[in-house]
Amino acid sequence: MNKHASDPANRPDAPPVRRPSCRISRLAWRLYEELLQPSRLDDYRRLLQNALDAGYEVIDNEQWLHRLRAGQIGPQQKVLVMRHDIDTDPRLSLDWHRIESELGCRASYYFRQSTRDAEVMHILAKAGVHVSYHFEELAEYAKQNRLRSPAAVQEAMPEIQAQFVENLHELRREFGLPMNVVCSHGDWMNRYLKMPNRVLTHDDGLRARAGIISETYDDEVMMPFAAYVSDDDPPTYWARGNPFELIQQGTSPLGILTHPKLWRSHWSSNARELTVRIREALQFKFGKGWK
Ligand SMILES: [Zn+2]
Repeated sequence: MNKHASDPANRPDAPPVRRPSCRISRLAWRLYEELLQPSRLDDYRRLLQNALDAGYEVIDNEQWLHRLRAGQIGPQQKVLVMRHDIDTDPRLSLDWHRIESELGCRASYYFRQSTRDAEVMHILAKAGVHVSYHFEELAEYAKQNRLRSPAAVQEAMPEIQAQFVENLHELRREFGLPMNVVCSHGDWMNRYLKMPNRVLTHDDGLRARAGIISETYDDEVMMPFAAYVSDDDPPTYWARGNPFELIQQGTSPLGILTHPKLWRSHWSSNARELTVRIREALQFKFGKGWK
């Protein structure tokens, strides 16, 4: 029994002040999240501390892959695999990393082209953190070339893959990191096409050419999880399960995905994101030449 879970005031899955959530509209929660939500980094520290107190080892996606392949994940072990998708606000990564290094925990940080912050990535890389590529070439190519049918995207796959390999090599050159365990980002275009970005890595030839040994959604690394949860908007804060409860129950192996931007009010970065999204939506609706 950990020392925090029984105290409702310490529960991170509730807002700081309990409100009759049934009466609060989605919009009100959204405004709370965008404008008022204080940083929940203390909750993250508490999550890691709970895991350590319960006997978990907190590892990154690269370690997870290697231990699985080496048959080193036994039923008696408690393992938590921590992944951070840096979709916006790359500088937040440093605060998260500070907590992890203080507690002796590891995590994977996945950066997009739009969040590649050389200073942040160099700091993390020098500290030995697992830093890799959050790729989205399939969605990007579809938007740039106005492809709105899965068949057209499939036809363009060699070009999409070539772009991915080029971008990946360029990142590897700049940061001197292997970046061979990569992670697919999800975009509105992927949802429209019903084609995730990771489809481009479903190709052994591409993997060999690009030097990719794993993608974070591969069955090999996803199926062994007893539970895989991700952070979400308030008021629930978590999707597919509450990690505090799962840790208390001793669920292992446990996978956790977080997006650091969700852990504090983020109107400024969302305003930028929204501007891009509106521009893309207008191009999609009114632009000519989509096929
Ligand atoms: Zn993402």
